[in-house]
Amino acid sequence: MQTLRTLEALARDGLVAPEPLLAEAAEAMAIAITPEMLGLIDRTDPNDPIARQFVPSVSETRIAPEELADPIGDEARTAVKGIVHRYPDRVLLKPVHVCPVYCRFCFRREKVGPGGEALSAAELEAAVAYIRDHPAIWEVILTGGDPLMMAPRRLSELIAALDAIGHVAVIRLHSRVPIVDPGRITEELVGAIKPRRAALWLGVHCNHPRELAPAARAALGRLADAGIPLLGQTVLLAGVNDEVETLDQLMRALVTARVKPYYLHHPDLVRGTGHFRVSIARGRELMRALRGRLSGLAQPTYVLDVPGGHGKVPIGPSYLAGYLGDDPDALADELPDELRVRDAFGETHRYPG
Ligand code: SF4
Repeated sequence: MQTLRTLEALARDGLVAPEPLLAEAAEAMAIAITPEMLGLIDRTDPNDPIARQFVPSVSETRIAPEELADPIGDEARTAVKGIVHRYPDRVLLKPVHVCPVYCRFCFRREKVGPGGEALSAAELEAAVAYIRDHPAIWEVILTGGDPLMMAPRRLSELIAALDAIGHVAVIRLHSRVPIVDPGRITEELVGAIKPRRAALWLGVHCNHPRELAPAARAALGRLADAGIPLLGQTVLLAGVNDEVETLDQLMRALVTARVKPYYLHHPDLVRGTGHFRVSIARGRELMRALRGRLSGLAQPTYVLDVPGGHGKVPIGPSYLAGYLGDDPDALADELPDELRVRDAFGETHRYPG
């Protein structure tokens, strides 16, 4: 089986029926579904949560007025090509724009894909020079696109170049590869990213418990055995994981695969992705339910990327809000002498302020 990359290939595989608007959706974003993800799709389920993430839908052609081409404001914070400098102590470095799969809800859906621009050797050197010239940069986050799509030798050279910059203490990679194309996590690739002087962390994007199939778990095991700490990143998606039972199973599966759940991302205001969006009220309700069910080790932080490039903030739920009302400023500044705190099971208790 090969990665499917065209509507015709999806139609031959029975995943879509010909429909003119689908061509419009496929035009707006590349298609790629790896054999591992194809193998997880339940063909008898018209609402299969794996298929929903990767198979184009006519819903993508509906653009709501509040949706944005650059929902997290990468452009506004681009310092030099390939570098997004949003916070003083860290930068994003985007060496490539290709991915092993194309997730229909992607917050960079207008940038990723085979037509996207990878950095040339000279541009990559300029991006590394920018990091070298800014001593406040403590952490470099390789993202894109998927940095694990780079050839191991090129990736190793890039990590070595970053590692040689004394003020870079942490190198973080964000990837979907261990889950969707686990065979790519070879000994050579693990060797390429193995920690050197700087600490190296890997964020793994995973949205449904079924994605943690045996091959993916084995790939994560190879990375963990190499001493690479693993973090889980999940996007909250309608029809994929917006049920407490699904999130419960996913967070447990991540922890048992030695991946610490890190962020549950509220879906961004990406153009053509209204069918994936869940309300913040629903997200908070799900988080509240998880608090009562899962150990702290399995709890992600529910975050929103503030549109316009203003960064991420945790969006709750707050366990003091029941007493103080819903005004967030009341929580941030003056607290009364006596608080009431809501426990994980929904009961409130007094606590001295
Ligand atoms: S792998 Fe990540 S960057 Fe690539 S399409 Fe999916 S969400 Fe977007």
